Amino acid sequence: MKVTFPHMGNAWIVIQTLFESLNVEVVVPPTNSKRTLNLGTRLSPESACLPLKLNLGNYLEAASEGADTIVITGGIGPCRFGYYGEVERQILRDAGYNYEVVTLEPPDGSLLGLAKRIRYLAGTKNSWVKILKAMRFAYLKSVALDRIEDLIHAARPRLPEPLLTEKLYEKARMQLAQTMTEKGVQETVRWVQESIRERQGGVNSYGHEICKPLRIGIVGEIYTILDPFSSVGIEEELGHLGVEVDRSIYLSGWVGSHVFRGLAPGYRSIKTYARHAKAYLPHFVGGHGQETVGAAVKFAQEGYDGIIQVFPLSCMPEIVAASVLPRVQDKYKIPIMTLIVDEHTGQAGMQTRLEAFVDLLEKPRFLRESG
Ligand code: SF4
Repeated sequence: MKVTFPHMGNAWIVIQTLFESLNVEVVVPPTNSKRTLNLGTRLSPESACLPLKLNLGNYLEAASEGADTIVITGGIGPCRFGYYGEVERQILRDAGYNYEVVTLEPPDGSLLGLAKRIRYLAGTKNSWVKILKAMRFAYLKSVALDRIEDLIHAARPRLPEPLLTEKLYEKARMQLAQTMTEKGVQETVRWVQESIRERQGGVNSYGHEICKPLRIGIVGEIYTILDPFSSVGIEEELGHLGVEVDRSIYLSGWVGSHVFRGLAPGYRSIKTYARHAKAYLPHFVGGHGQETVGAAVKFAQEGYDGIIQVFPLSCMPEIVAASVLPRVQDKYKIPIMTLIVDEHTGQAGMQTRLEAFVDLLEKPRFLRESG
């Protein structure tokens, strides 16, 4: 058995760690790229959302390296994600790929059920204790990855030489992917903290000293905001425009809430979002629509300068959230921009919109008019 899975941002590091800890052979699909998307788009229904197209592209690329089993999480509610596993299996079968698809579901279901599926993949040679240890270690790694991402969010607008910051991030990710000890994980986080501290106090990419960068909260569909290829590198781009970003969902926050059912909080728990959204969207609408609204309210209350919602074309939960966000914008006088991505989205168009939004936030006139 050779297991593969959706690449999705840094999630591959966590999934690879989980299975390699259990001696399961893994094929990590190449990083999402134009090629991945083209391959997936060719097989997908036109109206399918972007993550499905990228997933299919991942599986095709992994198949050429011998993968024969797909692992994907399941989902519930009014969103297509719950059908992904079966739909992808059928599309691949029709295209001549005989993949076995194992859905690790349901999120919000029993932890034992999840462990049983993992044991099915790992084989009975792995004891329950070993499986639980592997799950714990993978979770710790995902918290560390999120912590490092957040450090990089804060570092981008503050450190000189943006290229060095990106190199530091890349090196940290690779170090985390390779280490198989808790000590190694902790040392990597410490190394990133120290490297950033050593370089602080310079000037930004425009040659200006920055004391207090603009702060923008990114909200939206989970796959898109976790995967830089899908969001056309929005976080990196904003960082280089002198903006500190934060986002509504981090991988371990999602895992802590949906997989470990709150037993572990993950990095930036998403638990409070339903309460924050209550006055605007008091019920579940599928995907992370409610979290998007709740996070927007939270960012606004915390004094962020602006909010950007990102989601794939035709994503139903985010369309519902987008219809509610203008009320949040009016109530808190905070500019909110919505960006919709699909296979036709280009770097230049995205950059122009981000630059225009940052200009808007920098203009005190806006504050006077809306204040
Ligand atoms: S949340 Fe949106 S993009 Fe994600 S699977 Fe559901 S409909 Fe598609």
